[in-house]
Amino acid sequence: MTPDPAPNSAIRSFFEDSEGHWVATLACGHTQHVRHAPPREVRPWVTTEEGRAAKIGAELACPFCLMPKLPDDVVEYKRTSAFDPSTVPAGLLKSHTTKGGTWGEIVVEAGHVVYVLEDRGGASVVLREGVNGIIAPEAPHHVDPRPGARFFVRLLRAAEGAR
Ligand SMILES: [Zn+2]
Repeated sequence: MTPDPAPNSAIRSFFEDSEGHWVATLACGHTQHVRHAPPREVRPWVTTEEGRAAKIGAELACPFCLMPKLPDDVVEYKRTSAFDPSTVPAGLLKSHTTKGGTWGEIVVEAGHVVYVLEDRGGASVVLREGVNGIIAPEAPHHVDPRPGARFFVRLLRAAEGAR
């Protein structure tokens, strides 16, 4: 399987995180670190006001855009208890799907959870607090909670009478 390439999204603005690293806010609403931390990440432009200004409108590949969008008209009807790597049900760690009409939202409370979208060629995104995973109905997927992770899953479906 070749992972689907991440779609591009244009840089709208920049902000500094609590550790002083620069983060780009993209047109899609997702954010992405654009660190200057040589030799691993070299982006001297991000350290100057002019350098950042020149990158407004430039496109970055956004892996989070590989996830489907949660429809506006779905409501939560169930949620799991919180899991960590030692309590996560084995079924979540291997390929599985939600039922027809059922959406899922992986909500991370601590650490990192790798969410593998098998219907996007096995592309994966790293979820963290504030970056939830969206699961489309019947889409095969699995998760890989990293040490220290804690997360739960919300199940959602169309509200009664909404359609
Ligand atoms: Zn995005």
